[in-house]
Amino acid sequence: MTRREDCLAMDESDGLAQFRNEFFLPEGIIYLDGNSLGARPRAALERARQVVELEWGEDLVRSWNTAGWFELPVKLGDKLAPLIGAGRGEVVVSDSTSINLFKALAAALHIQAGRGSTAGRRFIVSERDNFPTDLYIAQGLARWLDRGYQLRLVDTPDELPSAIDQDVAAVLLTHVNYRSGRLLDMDALTRHAHQQGALAIWDLAHSAGAVPVDLAGADADFAVGCTYKYLNGGPGAPAFIWVAPRLMPSFSHPLSGWWGHAAPFAMQADFQACPTIRSALCGTQPTVSLSLVECGLDIFARTDMAALRRKSLAMTDLFIDLVEHRCAAHPLELATPRAHAQRGSHVSFRHPHGYAIVQALIEKGVIGDYREPQIMRFGFTPLYLRFVDVWDAVDALARILDQQAYDVNRVPQAVT
Ligand SMILES: *Cc1c(COP(=O)(O)O)cnc(C)c1O
Repeated sequence: MTRREDCLAMDESDGLAQFRNEFFLPEGIIYLDGNSLGARPRAALERARQVVELEWGEDLVRSWNTAGWFELPVKLGDKLAPLIGAGRGEVVVSDSTSINLFKALAAALHIQAGRGSTAGRRFIVSERDNFPTDLYIAQGLARWLDRGYQLRLVDTPDELPSAIDQDVAAVLLTHVNYRSGRLLDMDALTRHAHQQGALAIWDLAHSAGAVPVDLAGADADFAVGCTYKYLNGGPGAPAFIWVAPRLMPSFSHPLSGWWGHAAPFAMQADFQACPTIRSALCGTQPTVSLSLVECGLDIFARTDMAALRRKSLAMTDLFIDLVEHRCAAHPLELATPRAHAQRGSHVSFRHPHGYAIVQALIEKGVIGDYREPQIMRFGFTPLYLRFVDVWDAVDALARILDQQAYDVNRVPQAVT
């Protein structure tokens, strides 16, 4: 079994170790929740001061031009693009993932209607286990369109190929499952969807900055995702949306606000969509928050996803191995696939008292989180975590379990 000294040695020879200095991490905390809210890049504090004090304070409304505020959604999209296998001018950072899901799904259904293929294509395929907002947005849009669209939900990924048939208009899947950390085969599922005439929308909330993604290579149709998770953009930072270039000419969504207009400052009465990815924008963005997204992306620009993936897998392997050895006497059940090809960058274990144990860990300075039902979730962010953190986190978990040092009567807080 790996010893603490072995972990210290692994950190010594870790080529990514220097990136930890780019983040502020509070003393005495092991942060295993970067999959929910990424840690703060040190540069974000100075950037926030600059935006608030100088760009807003001194330059006022001139900053839309002089500080590049107006171009920010596209500029950030270009910086994000290499992390998801997209090109320049194909991504914008804007709005929330939920809103971008709405735009992407509406656009997909609109394209299908334009192909005249809606008559038989009534279904939107997803997983019952998908993140709820993805399902809720699809339900809301289907209800609103009132054209007979229905969700077809599968219980396991194995059922996806047979569920995606010629009655399907769009497939709405999350690449890395938020609960189990299971990674889907984007290439194979997109190919299958296309063979059946369906369009594929990928939610990359737990993928962008966590695992290598190649949207172009997979020939995907649309993608959305968060910047506040692995991309370290800050709480509630705007999300992203990508549209395959070959679909741009037919891309259209109902949130046709003025920022998506071909000439926003022509102030015309009729909407005319911008022919570029700008048409995915709706209205004025939260510029302070948007500005901070750049700090995280600039750190990613200095490394590559292949190196991050190697360290991520080494960390999740180590975590699984240590937990299984040191906590073998306890009723823990691994919810994350062991196969690397099916694993994202977080690891989940089920335990009947999962919530209470996670709270006890947080009190010891090891921050993970909890998702119903019974899932203890631990995120591994190779940019700022050390192998010794993995060892120390398991040590804390083993002690809490051995000593039953958790309160099973805890009432969950609003955010678990
Ligand atoms: C985190 C997450 C979201 C969050 O959506 P918001 O609109 O930012 O609240 C959406 N989808 C998935 C799969 C997620 O993991």
